[in-house]
Amino acid sequence: MLDDPRRAAAHRSYVDEWEKKINSFVQIDPRPGNGEGALAGVPYGVKDNIAVKGLGLSCGSKILEGFISPYTATAVERLEATGARVYGKCNLDEFGMGSSCENSVHGASSNPWDPARVPGGSSGGSAAAVAAGLVPFALGSDTGGSVRQPASFCGVYGLKPTYGAVSRYGLVAYASSLESIGILAGDVDTCRQVFDSIKGEDPKDQTSVPWEDRSGESSSRRIAVLEDLSDLSPGVDAVYRKSLEGFREIGWEIVPVRLKTLDYVVPAYYTIATAEASANLARYTGIRYGYRAEGEDHADMVRNTRSEGFGHEVKLRILLGTYVLRSGFQDQYYGRAQRIRTLIGDEFSKVFQGAEMLLMPTFPVAAFPHGESGMDAFQQKLADKFTAAANLAGIPGLSIPAGMDGNVPVGMQLLAPAFCEERLFSAAREFLSVYEPARCPGFKEPS
Ligand code: GLN
Repeated sequence: MLDDPRRAAAHRSYVDEWEKKINSFVQIDPRPGNGEGALAGVPYGVKDNIAVKGLGLSCGSKILEGFISPYTATAVERLEATGARVYGKCNLDEFGMGSSCENSVHGASSNPWDPARVPGGSSGGSAAAVAAGLVPFALGSDTGGSVRQPASFCGVYGLKPTYGAVSRYGLVAYASSLESIGILAGDVDTCRQVFDSIKGEDPKDQTSVPWEDRSGESSSRRIAVLEDLSDLSPGVDAVYRKSLEGFREIGWEIVPVRLKTLDYVVPAYYTIATAEASANLARYTGIRYGYRAEGEDHADMVRNTRSEGFGHEVKLRILLGTYVLRSGFQDQYYGRAQRIRTLIGDEFSKVFQGAEMLLMPTFPVAAFPHGESGMDAFQQKLADKFTAAANLAGIPGLSIPAGMDGNVPVGMQLLAPAFCEERLFSAAREFLSVYEPARCPGFKEPS
């Protein structure tokens, strides 16, 4: 696609124009692709916490300043085998921690629909690049919603696969038991094609498993919805109701259910995620990678490196994680969170005995303004309850464009049992007859 130099130059100036407004890429890869296969020459973005040999791997953090990856993630290697080529690395909230793509050493990214607003996060650069048509798809990572929420904010499709369905080899760890590499794409078929290319067991990731379609043949066409949904903004509430009607119109039976555990999702998620983060981020000491501060002795150097290298949100989470794991208190916090996690999984299993899928809003509000007039860090965390539930349960979720709130898009999320991604893709395709997503103003088809 970009093999022809004239097209490549035209595309490059299109990208440059957009980048002044949205800052979605942190690095462009000048290397040509290998040009063979089903996705030959198709450029794509890679969130900058996923390794591509020879490119930076900043994770949006000062602490990895200047680090060049010596190896490539399995998902990227598998895409290389299809002929697709890495166009560049995409901006993110530092180590994947955030919902706005504002916590990055590279500066904030913006929403292509309205650059005064955030693109969502943490895979905000990936979502913005796809929405603006800079690339037809991008890889992101989803630990508590970081693919689905920015997909919703930017009006694109965002898949968080079943836990273990895509190798995490080469994904820089934030909270290993929750996260997955995911896909942001401008259309359902691209999303599915990319998932097909990257899924499956990988000897380099022991938590990866062979993917086998468990969607089955079902004629029930029942879709569960939450009985007691509150806290939605009026705009998101309206799109949610319309989507529900839309599914009814195309022949789905709506089954109201209650998810009693939903209120416990945020505390359980933030306990487990920060506990794992505090352990995973212990490796950044200034000894082996990236940034190194001065210090009088070894301990002083490590302290200074971590104080200067990590941003505020990351430090907060390391402290919180250390707190919940401290000696004698594990049962009060971490153990409890794990028990809640089991209950959440059980509740989802029950829901899926009576319905093929569950429909929920992806996020309670649409893309919010940058800075002070937007959402603060605490409000952002509370709003993760719809997305983080799927990470705790390990099930797949797909955010689909479902409507508009003023000048910005709103996504809805479809959830299904583990290894039932096909159900999500086919429902998303059906939903196109109810709602055809628009492209953002100024969008041009990638050529
Ligand atoms: N907003 C969530 C968090 O800040 C999601 C992060 C993610 O999925 N990486 O933890």
